[in-house]
Amino acid sequence: MTRPIVAEISRSALAHNLRVARDHAPRSRIMTAVKANAYGHDVQLCAPVLAAAGVDAFAVASLEEAETIHALNLGKPICLLGGPFAAEEVSVAAERGYWLVIHEDRQLRWLENRAAQQDLQVFIKVDTGMHRLGFAPERLAEIFAKLQVYPHWQVLGLMSHLARADHPEDPFNAQQIGIFDQALQSFSGQTLGQHSLANSGAVLALPAAHQYWVRPGLMLYGLSPFADRNGIDIGLQPVLSWRSEIVATRQLQAGEWLGYGATWQAPAACRVGVVAAGYGDGYPRQLGTDTAVTVAGQPTRTLARVSMDMLFVDITHIQADIGSVVHLMGAGGPALEFMAAGLDTIPYEMSCRIQMRVPRRLGP
Ligand SMILES: *Cc1c(COP(=O)(O)O)cnc(C)c1O
Repeated sequence: MTRPIVAEISRSALAHNLRVARDHAPRSRIMTAVKANAYGHDVQLCAPVLAAAGVDAFAVASLEEAETIHALNLGKPICLLGGPFAAEEVSVAAERGYWLVIHEDRQLRWLENRAAQQDLQVFIKVDTGMHRLGFAPERLAEIFAKLQVYPHWQVLGLMSHLARADHPEDPFNAQQIGIFDQALQSFSGQTLGQHSLANSGAVLALPAAHQYWVRPGLMLYGLSPFADRNGIDIGLQPVLSWRSEIVATRQLQAGEWLGYGATWQAPAACRVGVVAAGYGDGYPRQLGTDTAVTVAGQPTRTLARVSMDMLFVDITHIQADIGSVVHLMGAGGPALEFMAAGLDTIPYEMSCRIQMRVPRRLGP
């Protein structure tokens, strides 16, 4: 592939961010969320780096995602955060040794029908107030008893998820942590002990939620879950650097129009770079004109409408030409968090929307 667009993934930044997670939760083991293709970063590149850096387990959203990691032979447990989606998945999961998070009665029936004689390791998901997945705390004893019937099965622990960890000072967190701790107490006589509650926000700011397993995702990619701080502000390093190059330049006279819809008119003579990156690559079309971009190391802005395969940058006042490197977002350019805020979304969505036609490459 010689179209100059690439998303470079930094090995050292991934390892650094994992160390930051460890420093924040020194007594916990780390199960890293690598669902959605490692938040758009390319799980095939990221998972081996994370494994080598000492991650303890991987967490994914589907059997297919688990299979992708399994094929990499990294020798780390793989946890299906939403458990099986169909009875047929249970036998594959059991055969592979995937950990299953059980949150619904029908999943219990699938387990009983398909894996009564197989070794299985499961978490019980408890709903502590987010009301997305999980059994009500009152039902835990009953669910636990059902799982205890099968000697091949091991309940690793309870798992829950926080709704407001991106706002650690919100009392909703303390409330959820309280409900979780109360649920744990009802199991205090049992041997299960691998409980888990914390995502990135809680790893960084809610030590009371750490438990045996922490489950950071976003922070490993160097991105901040907090709206008021970038990853760099909290000691993280951006993992992704999304870049392309200028493939043509234009000299416009005052009054000339630029791009689709002829929506941008040069107020004075100006110089424009045409960049090989567009909304077909996942660069949001809403980011036409006046969005921050870095060209040959110099900050400048986009101009006019974003096309499917190209966009325009203002190079009137900077040193740039055909072949100049354009940092669209991430390391070397505007922060992903900053770009997300400008679109009224979150960095999670920003990195996930970079399309697969943008080749990912491992860098230092
Ligand atoms: C995605 C996910 C995580 C990771 O969340 P981050 O905010 O990215 O750290 C943890 N737990 C569950 C259940 C998830 O779905």
